[in-house]
Amino acid sequence: MTRIGVLALQGDFREHMRAVERLGAEARAVRLPKDLAGLDGLIIPGGESTVMGKLMVEYQLDQPLRDAIHAGLPTWGTCAGLILLARETDNALLGQPLLAAMDIRVCRNAFGGQRESFETELDVPALGEEPLHTVFIRGPIVESVGPGVEVLARLNSPRLIAATGGFDIVAVRQGTLLGTAFHPEVTDDLRFHEYFLAIAREAGVGVS
Ligand code: GLN
Repeated sequence: MTRIGVLALQGDFREHMRAVERLGAEARAVRLPKDLAGLDGLIIPGGESTVMGKLMVEYQLDQPLRDAIHAGLPTWGTCAGLILLARETDNALLGQPLLAAMDIRVCRNAFGGQRESFETELDVPALGEEPLHTVFIRGPIVESVGPGVEVLARLNSPRLIAATGGFDIVAVRQGTLLGTAFHPEVTDDLRFHEYFLAIAREAGVGVS
C-alpha cells in the first residue's frame, strides 16, 4: 500500500491525512525523524511556516527532511508547506528556516491578511478540463521559477493578480516535488491528492 507521511507539527495535517486515506493510501503523521522511514511520499500542510519551521528545528527534523527530499522523496507543500519548500522567500522572518528544495522564489501573505482570504476557480490542465475550486488562506504567491520548474496553474482573475503586484503562479512542479499556494485538502475535490499519489507511486522510492 502506498504510504504517505504528513508533517504533523502544526497546521491542517488532519485534513490531508483524511484525503490520503479516502484515496485508499496509508497516511502517517510525521513528527520525528524516524517517522520518515519507509515513506513513498510526504505532504507538508498549510499552517504557519514560521511556526512549523521553528518546530522542525526543535524536533531536529529539519535536516532529516532536507536529506530525505534531496534523496528523492516525492514531496508536496500546500501554502505554508510551499513556502517551506522554496529556495527563497522575499519576506521571510529573519532566520526563518526553509527546506530550500524547490527552485522557486515566493512571497508570503501575498494577498494580505486573513480578511483577504478567498475562493476561486482555477484551470489546472494537468488535472483535466474541469476547473478546480480552490481555497486561499493567507496564501503565498510564486514570484519566479527556475528552469526545471513547471507551472501547473496561474490565477486568472485580474483583481487577484493586481493584489499580488502582477504575480500569478499558484501551483508548481519540479520533478517529484509539488507546491500549491492553496488548500486542496479543505475541499471534496481530491484530484490534486490523486495527482500527488500517482507521482509518489511512480517514483516508488520507499525511503529507508
Ligand atoms: N501565511 C502563512 C505563512 O506564512 C501560510 C498560510 C497557510 O498555510 N494557510 O506560513
